Amino acid sequence: MEDYTYCFSCRAEIPKIEGETHLYMLSSPGSWAMYGEVLSREYSEALYFRAHQFTVDAYACQHPGKKEWRSINSIGIHLCSLYLLLEQQAEHQQTIALRQRLSEQNRSHALFEWLEPPESTGEISAEHVWKAESPQEHCEAALRWVRSVWKAWEPHHPTVERWIQRATD
Ligand SMILES: [Zn+2]
Repeated sequence: MEDYTYCFSCRAEIPKIEGETHLYMLSSPGSWAMYGEVLSREYSEALYFRAHQFTVDAYACQHPGKKEWRSINSIGIHLCSLYLLLEQQAEHQQTIALRQRLSEQNRSHALFEWLEPPESTGEISAEHVWKAESPQEHCEAALRWVRSVWKAWEPHHPTVERWIQRATD
């Protein structure tokens, strides 16, 4: 029987293990490992891959890390991506193009600023996607996950909207 604990950042119930984590999307090792399994499922089968655009943004925004440029850039890009996907129903290809543009703008004009992460980054986590037993469940959980993360960042929605406007003017 494996021991469980909670990720300090997303609060998912995770295996209590030692191991590596991402360089700036800081998490407990079990959370990073669990997310790694979610990703490998998505890379191995097209039916799972449909959820990929959501899982990447959701995980990043649940693990904002510390106030440093890599985190500021990452959170900026992923929150803008959530705004485009959920508020503007943008197509995946459109989102990719705009993300590129936002990233360039941020490099040349420091578009993004550090946003104080919300107390809770949402009730749903990678754990829910990880526990899914079919591609359909996986995709549904990913959508619930991304919606709950976006809602958790609600106090910063106007700032995100402003970034998009500045980048697309
Ligand atoms: Zn986590």
